[in-house]
Amino acid sequence: MRIILLGPPGAGKGTQAANIVEKYAIPHISTGDIFRKNIKEGTELGKKAKEYMDQGLLVPDELTCGLVADRISQDDCKNGFMLDGFPRNIAQAEQLDKYLSEAGTKLDKIVNIEVDKSILVGRAVGRRICKSCGATFHVEFNPTKVEGICDKCGAELHQRADDNEETVSKRIQVYLDETKPLVGYYNKQGIVADINGDQAIEKVFADIVDALGE
Ligand SMILES: [Zn+2]
Repeated sequence: MRIILLGPPGAGKGTQAANIVEKYAIPHISTGDIFRKNIKEGTELGKKAKEYMDQGLLVPDELTCGLVADRISQDDCKNGFMLDGFPRNIAQAEQLDKYLSEAGTKLDKIVNIEVDKSILVGRAVGRRICKSCGATFHVEFNPTKVEGICDKCGAELHQRADDNEETVSKRIQVYLDETKPLVGYYNKQGIVADINGDQAIEKVFADIVDALGE
């Protein structure tokens, strides 16, 4: 099972990612993890990537694709993998297709978790976090017994600075702008499974399994 997982920030992608890798016994591959590992181990590609990152620059597509190709050629990816956060653009998607085709394989499915932007903004803006124990609540969906006070430890709750409407909205828009062309690209191959992410976690996963097959 070779899949790509797409989903906007706040759509519960992390939970579904964990469910998918467990059910299908495939590694969860994120570019962030690959960068960190290669940099830590001081590989050639890692050194190059670090040069860009140290300067605050984006790592070029070619280098990122090289790192991903190296990762998915490893033994634990023989039966498949789930890519998360890659590809980010058409150029990377084309590179990935080229690499897979040379390796005699291809992607099976793009799992595209969709949730309306307004719902995601509402979820994030209402989130409250305990300063003391880290418990999270939501003013509407998971309220505390006493407003502003943690149910678990009695400490004061706060809102993360970047959970304001403007920042959240911008973050989601960046995702949508980036993802739309990719979904179009994979739609042409007929491998996109659009999943309604505005449902109970179990239902979302059941829909994903339906799309991927048992
Ligand atoms: Zn607390």
